[in-house]
Amino acid sequence: MAGERLLDVKNLEVSFYTYAGKVHAVRGVSFHVNRGETLAIVGESGCGKTVSVQSTIKLIPMPPGKIEGGTVLFDGKDLTAMSDRDLQSVRGAEIGVIFQDPMTSLNPTMTVGRQITEGLIKHQRLSAQEAKRRAIEMLSLVEIPNPKERFRQYPHQFSGGMRQRVMIAIALSCNPKLLIADEPTTGLDVTIQAQILDLMKSLQTKLDTSIILITHDLGVVSKLADRIVVMYAGKVAEAGTSEDIFYNALHPYTQALLKSVPRLHEETKRELLAIPGTPPDLFVPPKGCAFAPRCSYAMRVCLDHQPGDFAAGGSHTVACWLMDPRAAHVRERHAGRAEDAGARGGAS
Ligand code: SF4
Repeated sequence: MAGERLLDVKNLEVSFYTYAGKVHAVRGVSFHVNRGETLAIVGESGCGKTVSVQSTIKLIPMPPGKIEGGTVLFDGKDLTAMSDRDLQSVRGAEIGVIFQDPMTSLNPTMTVGRQITEGLIKHQRLSAQEAKRRAIEMLSLVEIPNPKERFRQYPHQFSGGMRQRVMIAIALSCNPKLLIADEPTTGLDVTIQAQILDLMKSLQTKLDTSIILITHDLGVVSKLADRIVVMYAGKVAEAGTSEDIFYNALHPYTQALLKSVPRLHEETKRELLAIPGTPPDLFVPPKGCAFAPRCSYAMRVCLDHQPGDFAAGGSHTVACWLMDPRAAHVRERHAGRAEDAGARGGAS
């Protein structure tokens, strides 16, 4: 049922224990995915987006990774309390995953047909014959020409875009309720990228699957997402509908991200903004707002205290002290610039 929560993650805490010390990679992250919707999780490399999502189904290497707190409810089941064996049957059967690089995710020594049928035989308990029929059906659903012939071929006989289609076929073969797509189009050229995104969109409608899209690319997000979570330094900086984020971004980091996206069809040329500085070292997480050293609005309070989530109307939340009523004078200055970012914030 649309609007009903399928996945509900609360206060997730994940650390990695390395020889150099503890990296607090995910610091109290909460998000949810409704049935039938696409949630995009965006942010720079190392912001914790992949770790946050992969931790929900314990896909991170443990050790050195450790889930130190939080709850993950999926379709009414508490995934954090599940045994590895039970979780294995959820992964693949109820939650499908597409990784960034299909060449390393696919087994080069097995035909693609066998890689699709494996999951069907294991999770759906289909006979070899039934699994083969379903696998050929899936190859044709992801628009791979000559699916019967392609079923017998190896990954190296497919182009990059076709391999990503095979990954999508594998991930969706058991009719999962949720599909996790981690940078699904990175490394593909622009036209193939557009085809893969169109394919994901049409399959979502056909199969009624919810999607979590993990990406650093706001162009990809604008094509698919219903709601967006923007992450920075292991925390959620801003969350809201696509409209909230693209047209009414309120967090200085989100605004800076939007200003750094090139828009080819804009009539007036503008300078692309590179966000100065680098994200903080999560070996020693900052006491206050992690964006403070790069933020032109930083106030004294930002350095010493973490901002909470301020409500900005509907499902829009912003973790920034500028949203505090006491920061009205700073916000006024901020509003003029936010309007500017919003005017350019449309989908590329
Ligand atoms: Fe900038 Fe302060 Fe907001 Fe952080 S809390 S983004 S430093 S204004």
